[in-house]
Amino acid sequence: MATFIFGHTTPDTDSIIGAISLSYLKNQLGEETIPTRQGEINPETKFILEKFGYKAPELKTSYAGESVYLIDFMERSQSPKDIDEATILGIVDHHKLGDLTTATPLEMWVRPVGCSNTIVKQMFDYYNIEIPKELAGMMMCAILSDTVIFKSPTCTKEDTKACKELAQIAQIEDYKALGMEMFNVKSDVLSATKRELVLRDFKDFNMGGKKVGVGQLEVVDLSVFDNMKDELFSEMKKLKEEGSRDTVLLMLTDIIQEGTQLLVVSDDISKIKEAFGVEIENNQVWLPKVMSRKKQIIPFLEKVF
Ligand code: MG
Ligand code: MG
Ligand code: MG
Repeated sequence: MATFIFGHTTPDTDSIIGAISLSYLKNQLGEETIPTRQGEINPETKFILEKFGYKAPELKTSYAGESVYLIDFMERSQSPKDIDEATILGIVDHHKLGDLTTATPLEMWVRPVGCSNTIVKQMFDYYNIEIPKELAGMMMCAILSDTVIFKSPTCTKEDTKACKELAQIAQIEDYKALGMEMFNVKSDVLSATKRELVLRDFKDFNMGGKKVGVGQLEVVDLSVFDNMKDELFSEMKKLKEEGSRDTVLLMLTDIIQEGTQLLVVSDDISKIKEAFGVEIENNQVWLPKVMSRKKQIIPFLEKVF
């Protein structure tokens, strides 16, 4: 019986490409695996899949009775609802230790690097398996996406090294230009509904028994949001009510100015002020140099919750 490999809910490029790259590696190693996804493909990932001629993994949201590998997450809140009825054979991830547990021993490749695909690249090297040219191109794009073309504070030397080696395999000289092309695709926010935007890269966390949702949109120019803030806020409020969340945050990240306009909807806004040591006016605040949810937002929220 095949093992399924998938990333987090509301999958990003790292989750989708990671499922494909890890599945390819596992299959080369003699396991029978199938990459899947828990949600819709975002425009950036679609661009990458089309560019390198790959199909999106199958949509699959239920895994009871199945064996699985998880990539790019280990949080219950980002898992399929029946994850407890699945057997987790392994986890490949670059996030904080999550709250999933297993009944059986498992394989874990968890490293504090900027992208899960950097770890998958290291696994290919470890097993001495060759990476096909087009797959290397997609893995390279995943690293450029997660590290915001090496600008994110999550980016390590291992990420830049893996990215450059993948670019060589993919025979892509100007990989940073391709990275910018990806972020331009990401910056096209006008063709999506406001709800789609808030949910495009959205993650729920359990913080001290409270549900906190944090979305992020990374664009090359924040002015694209100028005339839609009110509508974004009203979608955030709806999400807060519908999901019984304590707080919903939306990070509008400007990858050129390198900072984040944080939109806040919360039962207790003073907690958010305390978390970041800032004043919040009209439910928003500019946080200079803040680009990473996992490193610059979540740890500070965890502290106050
Ligand atoms: Mg991810
Ligand atoms: Mg990732
Ligand atoms: Mg990200």
